[in-house]
Amino acid sequence: MKRIGLFGGTFDPPHYGHLLMAEQAYQQLALDEVWFIPSYQPPHKEEAKTTAKDRVDMTKAATQGHPAFHVITLEVEREGKSYTLNTIQTLKEQFPAYQFYFIIGGDMVEYLPKWHRIEELVELVTFVGVNRPGSTTNSPYPVEKVEMPLIDISSTMIRKRLKEGQSIRYLTTPEVIAIINKYELYS
Ligand code: ATP
Repeated sequence: MKRIGLFGGTFDPPHYGHLLMAEQAYQQLALDEVWFIPSYQPPHKEEAKTTAKDRVDMTKAATQGHPAFHVITLEVEREGKSYTLNTIQTLKEQFPAYQFYFIIGGDMVEYLPKWHRIEELVELVTFVGVNRPGSTTNSPYPVEKVEMPLIDISSTMIRKRLKEGQSIRYLTTPEVIAIINKYELYS
């Protein structure tokens, strides 16, 4: 039975915080693979300014060097609001023998009680909470903890820096920066 980490996000853009948390979950939970799932439209956020295709391309670029990291596009193909429950139900049908671990940052752990049909969701996946600056991993739902060095990088910070013409070098990978520069994504 394969152990698969699922990592949903807007990835607008992906950054080293995302990559480090995926790597730590991969290692600490002895996962076989981590599947990054760019959302089409996250239920809890405003619509992304970039297209879903740009975010998929950047997520592929960010993960290309890791043999166990993959990007799956079912949420962007489904369009509309990206409810995790729909995604998990589809994956469970496609891969009935796999065990799924859903990786989230501390800010999302706190938000779990507000997730769409959370009671059903917790029956289908094991949630994995990774510490993030400014948040706890306390939750009324069972969450497996993964530790990582706190990294105070967010996509919001990167977008802001680009808008202000500041450097984003070392906040995300050179491959992601190349795409951002080529298509002038956030300037
Ligand atoms: P934004 O700034 O646009 O809100 P973000 O940086 O939080 O974006 P998302 O793509 O929304 O990135 O995050 C996907 C997942 O990664 C979420 O579960 C979030 O909690 C987690 N995450 C993102 N950055 C970090 C970080 N630096 N440390 C820990 N978890 C993080």
